[in-house]
Amino acid sequence: MSSSSYYHNIPSQEMDINIRNNVPFFTKNIRIDKTLSILPSGIKIEKNVPMKNHTSFRVGGPADYFVRPASVTEFMQIIKSIEIIRAKNLSNIYGFPCTIMGGGTNILVKDQGIRGLVISLTRMKEDVKITNLNHEHTGIAEHFLYSQQGFSSKQFILSEHAIVSVSAGTSLTALCLKTIKLGLEDLSFAAGIPGTVGGAVMMNAGTGLGTISDRLISIDILDQDNNISTLDRSQLLFSHRKLEFVPPFTPLFRPIILRASFLLTKGSREKVERSWKNLIQKRRASQPHGFPSAGCFFKNPDIVNSTENLINQPIIPAGKLIDMAGLKRKRVGDAMVSDRHANFILNLGNATASEILTLRNIVKETVFKKFGVHLSEEVIIQGE
Ligand SMILES: Cc1cc2nc3c(=O)[nH]c(=O)nc-3n(C[C@H](O)[C@H](O)[C@H](O)COP(=O)(O)OP(=O)(O)OC[C@H]3O[C@@H](n4cnc5c(N)ncnc54)[C@H](O)[C@@H]3O)c2cc1C
Repeated sequence: MSSSSYYHNIPSQEMDINIRNNVPFFTKNIRIDKTLSILPSGIKIEKNVPMKNHTSFRVGGPADYFVRPASVTEFMQIIKSIEIIRAKNLSNIYGFPCTIMGGGTNILVKDQGIRGLVISLTRMKEDVKITNLNHEHTGIAEHFLYSQQGFSSKQFILSEHAIVSVSAGTSLTALCLKTIKLGLEDLSFAAGIPGTVGGAVMMNAGTGLGTISDRLISIDILDQDNNISTLDRSQLLFSHRKLEFVPPFTPLFRPIILRASFLLTKGSREKVERSWKNLIQKRRASQPHGFPSAGCFFKNPDIVNSTENLINQPIIPAGKLIDMAGLKRKRVGDAMVSDRHANFILNLGNATASEILTLRNIVKETVFKKFGVHLSEEVIIQGE
């Protein structure tokens, strides 16, 4: 398989092998530069771009190449040049690594940066299409609603729903505000979640009030053959902050999401606005602000197999465990566990990725020693 989607996001250890196996990197770069130069002049590919400028953590070394396509057409032109690089074997047998990012609000880029090309989708925010339901959509909508707990066919009324379709680079907040204005419910759970719609779907972003998968009907992706295809909800497996794909897609398959569609309920604009504002206020009171971060660093653990059963509940928030382990304000260089919400690691100014990762190790080891709980990262660690 030689597609860009297949290689998108491969773990950095695999990339290391790719690069070691090859001709000196500078020779390759000259040839890659040439190939990328066939792109239309409007598409600007930058070299050695510090990822700290493109992530909410404000941390990370340079991407070899960085591009922000403004449309699906530009995006496809870029994908075609990557295919040329791979087909002509200008990089190496594994192909030219390609990393996709949205708003960079859930990513920690390591200090040596990212090899290959980083494609940021933040300019791909063409249009939000809102379609009132008609009889053509009944099948999709009913199928979806049947699969949701608490719905029955009797509750499904065409005039009370709309389909909202949006490109992946659109900011999640912009989408929510637009739908709220129209009195569409169901996205107010996302108040205060930064980043793009594509990133939110990939991470199954959410709060205590819901997740992005709750009302997702389908996504458009770039598939293994570099064609755009639509996957409906039944082909997607969502779990806590995770999206996986059912066979025939392999576990390594990481498609690029280009569009997402949601089925939303028409309701009262005042009610949705109120719940949005309430959630923003709650977040302000409970979460740190003023310092860069990537939000919650760790996932909340599932049923806990703890050595000390200190809390009698099936899900113990990671932040509570870190707090109980006495780690608030624990600091390595300029990386610090937040005093206000212990699941946030903050960059106090000049933190490096290596300081953040050392602090991450201390947190994991201490929590494991104290409670027998393995914390796993919610933040995606990229690069080398
Ligand atoms: C202050 C703060 C508060 C936060 N609060 C929350 C919260 O309440 N709930 C929550 O769930 N998260 C929260 N987050 C984390 C983060 O905002 C979400 O995970 C967000 O949805 C990530 O979107 P993004 O566009 O920034 O994705 P990125 O960080 O750019 O990417 C995340 C992952 O998705 C992949 N990806 C991104 N776009 C695409 C695409 N189009 N196709 C394929 N793969 C893609 C990337 O390769 C990467 O692996 C918070 C972060 C911050 C900084």
